[in-house]
Amino acid sequence: MRIDIITLFPGTVDAPLGESIVGRARQRGVVEIAVHNLRDFAEGRHQVTDEPPFGGGGGMILKPEPLAAAIGAVRRAGARVILLDPAGRRFTQAVAGELARLPHVILVCGRYEGVDERVRQHLVDEELSIGDYVLSGGEVAALVVTEAVTRLLPGALGDEAAAERDSFARGLLEHPHYTRPEIFRDWPVPPVLLSGDHARIARWRRLMSLWRTWQRRPDLLETADLSPEEQKWVDAFNQGQAPSNLIA
Ligand code: SAM
Repeated sequence: MRIDIITLFPGTVDAPLGESIVGRARQRGVVEIAVHNLRDFAEGRHQVTDEPPFGGGGGMILKPEPLAAAIGAVRRAGARVILLDPAGRRFTQAVAGELARLPHVILVCGRYEGVDERVRQHLVDEELSIGDYVLSGGEVAALVVTEAVTRLLPGALGDEAAAERDSFARGLLEHPHYTRPEIFRDWPVPPVLLSGDHARIARWRRLMSLWRTWQRRPDLLETADLSPEEQKWVDAFNQGQAPSNLIA
């Protein structure tokens, strides 16, 4: 997969994209990522990328010409051009999965008051928002999308199954994790995790994943695909039962 990021501030994305899982995925050729400076596509001696809005009002707007030139230069057949924007479709794990199946994604970062409306209307395929708040630029949003998508690409994670166990992969939050020591202060690890009984551990994890989702994100349960046993557990939670009453 290839991801191109178009930004006025390449320095804000360069370093994070060279580190950890994304950095290693790039080195291994799992994903090809290129960052493009929008200013390189602006014409004239001053390479102007932004202007005040027609009709007045504060702030600056990213001009259409440099954005059109940048998108045109990097776009290949089959690419999806995405503008990061608070008005866009909400970015979720499901959207990350959708993008991870594409050969080429171009992420366009807005700045200032945003981009000229004609970019939104004619030059991008869709808009994505990472949440209901306003950032100063699309760069952090582009990093969020790039990292969430890269994790899903085959070969990106050391443990191939890890992404399938993550929160939201099955529509639920993930179960709690513990590591050494077995007792920290006077807080012990749940004994089942030390039992060595993998079937029991797997069942406990499914129960705790469901419990955490029921407590914190009950909205997810409305669309989660639950097994009959999981549905029974949810019914028990609704009747006031705690997980410790449901399995040994
Ligand atoms: N005036 C715009 C508005 O009210 O919708 C906000 C512009 S914001 C200061 C500048 C840029 O940051 C946007 O063009 C967009 O690229 C990016 N941005 C801000 N919040 C975002 C969000 N929640 N998701 C994705 N991109 C965002």
